[in-house]
Amino acid sequence: MYAQAVDHIEGGATAGDEVDVVDPRGQWLGRGLYSPGTAIPVRLYTRSKPQSINQTLIEQRINSAVKRRQVLGLPSLRTNAFRILNGEGDDFPGLVIDKYADTVVVQIATIGVKQRERMILDTIEQLLRPRCIVDRTSKRLAQSEKFEPNQGVVRGIAEPEGLTFRERAFEFNIPLELGQKTGYYLDQRTLRGRIEQMSNGRQVLDVFSYIGPFALAAARGGASRVTAVDSSLIALEVSAQVAARNDLSGKIEYDHNDAFEALKRAGRNGGYDIVICDPPKLAPSRSASERAQTFMRRLASAGCQAVAPGGTLVLCSCSAAIGLSELTRALALGGRDVNVVPRVIERWYQGPDHPVVAAFREGLYLSAVIAEISNVN
Ligand code: SAH
Repeated sequence: MYAQAVDHIEGGATAGDEVDVVDPRGQWLGRGLYSPGTAIPVRLYTRSKPQSINQTLIEQRINSAVKRRQVLGLPSLRTNAFRILNGEGDDFPGLVIDKYADTVVVQIATIGVKQRERMILDTIEQLLRPRCIVDRTSKRLAQSEKFEPNQGVVRGIAEPEGLTFRERAFEFNIPLELGQKTGYYLDQRTLRGRIEQMSNGRQVLDVFSYIGPFALAAARGGASRVTAVDSSLIALEVSAQVAARNDLSGKIEYDHNDAFEALKRAGRNGGYDIVICDPPKLAPSRSASERAQTFMRRLASAGCQAVAPGGTLVLCSCSAAIGLSELTRALALGGRDVNVVPRVIERWYQGPDHPVVAAFREGLYLSAVIAEISNVN
């Protein structure tokens, strides 16, 4: 519940407490955890009056989330890295659980969840039997909720070689430092599959490639040329190791460069058939969303210019503030700025292991468009 929706608080609740939410007529609405002084002071966990936010509820939520993934066919022989519990989307706000083969990664986003951390970790150990649990809670979120984040291995012993897992039959290994700091982006798995299908015989530019899952998809899909661009050298080094591990050495060129520089250069050299732009999260708050819009428009026009005539631009946004309609608008404006016509062919969102409860549309944070770029006629 947003702060504006809360009229007053009775009974002297303190940070992290279980609180009942009641409507103006006194009707009981649900039970949540209290985060005083934040934009969302209460997050709801149950609408069942006898249910309290205890070990039983935690077990039940994690179990349901695991079953939901099983229905999706996760894990499978090809993919053993996926999101097991997606916060609100799995009726457990403030907690994200990812599974990378035998390693579980948790992210805690509220003081209420932090206070129940031990119970949660115990339950994860019991139900999922991981080799280790790594905490990758964001410092920024922890600060805003006034708790000290744990970072690193919190249960068990980490694999010394880092995070090893499989996505769509690609074998990944991410060294511990990078794995614990940044991890991996599980939400784009489905779009990667689509890029693989589209890449045969085409030249593909993967901008903001991180450790290169789009580039790998393009290479395995038969691309005639693949270039991966990132401003992080370590990301590109890991990317090259991953390519080698998957017998794709030599199929990917690496460009340690700023995205806009790389796009400009690509445009000067005739362009690529497919250009993928998957920038980092831009707008953590609504107030920053105008800046994000401007950035997206600039990126769209740079992206359009890097596409060879008749080629394809894949533009992604992983901020709820820039959803599909804002993304489409940025693309329209960005295209106009450089005198081309972007034509949206497909729309994509976060994969199915990142479900969104219909009543919580902010949960739909990842959007992407695949657009054909043509000259004005
Ligand atoms: N496409 C990736 C995820 C991208 S995350 C995937 O599918 O997994 C965003 C990436 O953008 C990070 O690796 C970060 O290092 C890189 N980055 C951030 N700013 C950049 C810039 N100005 N130019 C190039 N890369 C940048």
